[in-house]
Amino acid sequence: MSKLAANSQFYTVEVGDSTFTVLKRYQNLKPIGSGAQGIVCAAYDTLTGQNVAIKKLSRPFQNVTHAKRAYREFVLMKLVNHKNIIGLLNVFTPQKSLEDFQDVYLVMELMDANLCQVIQMDLDHERMSYLLYQMLCGIKHLHSAGIIHRDLKPSNIVVKSDCTLKILDFGLARTAGTSFMMTPYVVTRYYRAPEVILGMGYTENVDVWSVGCIFGEMVRGKIVFRGNDHIDQWNKIIEQLGTPSQDFMKRLQPTVRNYVENRPKYAGYSFEKLFPDVLFPAESTEHNKLKASQARDLLSKMLVIDPYKRITVDQALQHPYVNVWYDPSEVEGVSPAPIPYDHSIDEREHTVEQWKDLIYKEVVDYVQKLLYGKLPLIGNSASGDTCSTS
Ligand code: AMP
Repeated sequence: MSKLAANSQFYTVEVGDSTFTVLKRYQNLKPIGSGAQGIVCAAYDTLTGQNVAIKKLSRPFQNVTHAKRAYREFVLMKLVNHKNIIGLLNVFTPQKSLEDFQDVYLVMELMDANLCQVIQMDLDHERMSYLLYQMLCGIKHLHSAGIIHRDLKPSNIVVKSDCTLKILDFGLARTAGTSFMMTPYVVTRYYRAPEVILGMGYTENVDVWSVGCIFGEMVRGKIVFRGNDHIDQWNKIIEQLGTPSQDFMKRLQPTVRNYVENRPKYAGYSFEKLFPDVLFPAESTEHNKLKASQARDLLSKMLVIDPYKRITVDQALQHPYVNVWYDPSEVEGVSPAPIPYDHSIDEREHTVEQWKDLIYKEVVDYVQKLLYGKLPLIGNSASGDTCSTS
């Protein structure tokens, strides 16, 4: 195994409770967030003059669940190239050999805030619809690579002050749910579609549900389906949208069906009641389609329990509330269609030692491609549009 780097290229700095050992080109580290996998810092890249985000994956092979997730994320980040999906600018490990291998650092484009922070703001129709449009473009691109996310949530979506948006992660692996993760980190389930909660089969429009939940939260200023646990999540959905039809029930596994059919019956509320006019911003003066009635119409087509009756990503992109932004190069993507993701990765079972080896090899492979010019040194980020409506 080739050696990755000499120690002299690195320096160590304490950020919050964590220690970052990074390439000297990255200076001025400041913590900006943390997730299930570790801490994220903002930094200045002295080589390119660009501000970047650096995520530290601490011992990503510490257990099989962590390892699989880190490996999958890394492989997918290398595969996908779209302006609404976070791009990878660099990857490194300060350890010099497989034997010493501990941590992986992913360098990404730096954004200003995650969507949790933006949802709190009073957004006008232009911003709301532009954010929705970009989420749908990013999701469509993931789908074209064979990746169905299933776990989109505001903490994994980041935005810039110019209203450009990027999705940060790649959601659940196909085999997710079978793995039990021992972590103090609380999993957010508020945005998960009924078919995920109820363990049904799913198709691409599973991700439309999550966008609908995020959209509803922007309008209401509160989480739409705030379940206390897995089971309560379902209660919160049916209390507002009503008990689904028999046709839907028939598609459930017997034990789940038994539970769902024995819940109290709810009639649900109309979308005029769930999202009354007072919750919406003032009508747009520039676009006559950007108004409460159109926004509510789209919401009512996204937040549909039965996936067979829910709008698809393409239909949502064509909806009058969103298609004001429609640009074929953004929707279809400018780069060639991504190579489909090899789902056998999700099914792979390895020991911790084997995962360590695989992740290390991926890091070495990335660094070598960078060195031999097969990857751009400055990164692959596409320049973003602004919120202006030209
Ligand atoms: P993650 O570990 O990917 O779940 O990220 C955790 C948090 O770090 C996110 O919710 C964001 O607030 C922040 N974050 C991650 N990546 C970036 C980035 N590229 N730009 C700005 N903030 C980020």
